[in-house]
Amino acid sequence: MPEESMLGFEQAFGVLRQFTRSRSAASRAVEHCELCSAGLHHDHPHLVELANRQILCACDACALLFDGLEKSKFKRVSRTPQYLASFEMTDGQWESLMIPINMAFLFRSSIENRTVALYPSPAGSVESLLPLDAWEEIAANNPVLRLLKPDIEALLVNRVGHAHGLRDAEYYIAPIDECYKLVGLIRTNWKGLSGGTEVWTEVARFFAELRSKSEVMRGGVNA
Ligand SMILES: [Zn+2]
Ligand SMILES: [Zn+2]
Repeated sequence: MPEESMLGFEQAFGVLRQFTRSRSAASRAVEHCELCSAGLHHDHPHLVELANRQILCACDACALLFDGLEKSKFKRVSRTPQYLASFEMTDGQWESLMIPINMAFLFRSSIENRTVALYPSPAGSVESLLPLDAWEEIAANNPVLRLLKPDIEALLVNRVGHAHGLRDAEYYIAPIDECYKLVGLIRTNWKGLSGGTEVWTEVARFFAELRSKSEVMRGGVNA
């Protein structure tokens, strides 16, 4: 390529790059606290509205207001995921939960006073009827589940790779907003009957990122 057109190419590419950068900066700037409308920075806290399980973006001040408050309609979502290194679940136990794909998240709903099992689908999150016996057996084998904070943390199960013999199943205590983020990326990237390659690339990226920011917990103890 002659030097002149190379320069033109670089300039054009530079403009394109700038465009995508300012666009993503702009889409970030439109985020506002859903309680007081204050502008939000990228790494803002989230609240969960207990009655409808809605995740709300919040500013630090509003999040602080609901931090650890008893009897509130909102709860602040915890931030740090924990990778459960010694979690035990047999294939039979997983199958007895009757979840049709190889991912799910389970959490304790304080207002319904029960454990809720949800899984991502192309149409959003779907609730699965949780067979109590199966769940109680899993909970008895994994005392770490007693640490799950109601409403704001879930046991997140990823058996996608495991089902294809690629790697071990992964288990996390995950902030509930991360679980809904997974639901959102499946809904927006799913194509056709099997999802297409894009969605599975996104799922793999999501779990790689989650793993990299997780604390590792072995047998209920942080390592
Ligand atoms: Zn606010
Ligand atoms: Zn947000």
